Amino acid sequence: MAIKRQRRKLKVLFATSEATPFVKTGGLGDVGGSLPPALRHAGCKVSVVMPKYSTIPWEFVEKMQHVAEFGVPLAWRNVWCGVEHLSYRDIDFYFIDNEDYFKRDTCYGHFDDGERFAFFSKAILEAMEHVEGMRCDVLHCNDWQTALAPVFLREFYRGIDYMDNVRTIFSIHNVQFQGQYSDKMLGDVLGLEGTPAADQLRMDKDSIDFMKGACLYSDMLSTVSPTYANELKTPYFGEHLEWVFQQRADALHGVLNGIDMADWNPASDPRIPQNFSAKDLSGKAACKAALQQELGLAVDPTRPLVVNVGRLTKQKGLDLVNYAFETLMSRGVQVAVLGTGDPAYEDSLRYFAGRFPGQAAACITFDNNLAHRMYAGADLFLMPSQFEPCGLSQMISMRYGTLPVVRETGGLADSVHAYNKYTGEGDGFSFANFNADEMASCLLEACEVFWTQPDVWRQLQLQAMAVDFGWGIAANDYIDLYHQLHPEVIRYVKRRDI
Ligand code: ADP
Repeated sequence: MAIKRQRRKLKVLFATSEATPFVKTGGLGDVGGSLPPALRHAGCKVSVVMPKYSTIPWEFVEKMQHVAEFGVPLAWRNVWCGVEHLSYRDIDFYFIDNEDYFKRDTCYGHFDDGERFAFFSKAILEAMEHVEGMRCDVLHCNDWQTALAPVFLREFYRGIDYMDNVRTIFSIHNVQFQGQYSDKMLGDVLGLEGTPAADQLRMDKDSIDFMKGACLYSDMLSTVSPTYANELKTPYFGEHLEWVFQQRADALHGVLNGIDMADWNPASDPRIPQNFSAKDLSGKAACKAALQQELGLAVDPTRPLVVNVGRLTKQKGLDLVNYAFETLMSRGVQVAVLGTGDPAYEDSLRYFAGRFPGQAAACITFDNNLAHRMYAGADLFLMPSQFEPCGLSQMISMRYGTLPVVRETGGLADSVHAYNKYTGEGDGFSFANFNADEMASCLLEACEVFWTQPDVWRQLQLQAMAVDFGWGIAANDYIDLYHQLHPEVIRYVKRRDI
């Protein structure tokens, strides 16, 4: 039978556990906040669904409207669920409400995270019956917190007209966090015992893995950079799921994230001491002096100021930083880190800050305003990750004329082009191996350029600032993928684009 072709905008429901400005613990929050508006701009209808955490600022909560309430079946229980609606930047945001699960100080790290996000994933599907605006052509799930939605969809919601049309895409933002729990959840919480999904979720004899389920059940998979899409198929990066990614290689796509170019804009950023742009970089020197002052570093324009903003975890290469710290100090470099995470790294950074006053600073906190000042005031941004699905910090720093020094992995390899001293091309510095000496020599070579070739340095800053990291390209790529899932729908093109 011939397929009936239609030209219309696809309806996408974007399911995420974080979205700025409501809640953010890392890069997923940035993506949840800025990809949906870009998708809308690029030509599809998009709504977002996320948990209603009690940490969402009151200014948003007070504007939310209660649109539905119903019970969500979780194995033998029926759990109360409310849905609240808020229109923000012309996007419909739906918040899944249940205070038992989401009235907590932090988003993650609780004993019942598996149950909390199993509830969230099931509630998304139940809500489609009650909230017309959540019905969609494409359900775009992100990371393990929403991984069970594609599994539940195929196991429990077949034969419902508005559900049968739904195609699923699952985006992996970090394969290290898979949502692995005891297989007792299959019967007690998920209601999947005895179903085919039980076998697919099983990791070993007594554990299950939410992400594995999504990778096997979703119609399409994506991850946040082309290089990481390839890396996932190898044992070093695949975290025991490499065979799944090899098996589903045809369905797996790598789409490089973008950043919110309006939020991260040195020319208009209200959070930095002085604005600047590629045309006039003078404000950057003022930002650097102010940052040195604020962090208790020697206020000296000739000292290269190297910063890092991010989670303090093994993934981010903190072992290399610790190992090379004294070498960098002995060469006169200033180092400042803003982050929270593994207590061992927090302590070692505090130790270095105490040992090298005026030259090293450790801000062990989560502070978005300070992050803006650090991106703006630094000369170099150090990101020696062991693996990096995409990484946003290197893109943000480039936007502020702060040159990145990165390890060539995942999205870092896809977004930073190493300086070529023969051609002058490039927008940062990079090294290949996960090795502290290699990192230190790469960083010191960058400092050498800073010290001895100010014109080259300035040119590299301009090249970095000129890169378009906006969401437009990624949004178009995602829409192409959505249309592959719905070949009967012809892509809607704006009249002025024809
Ligand atoms: P990941 O998602 O692996 O944590 P990304 O580089 O993709 O890393 O994104 C991290 C985001 O979180 C960036 O916007 C960064 O500025 C922000 N961030 C991380 N740690 C902090 C912190 N301590 N204070 C402020 N912002 C932070």
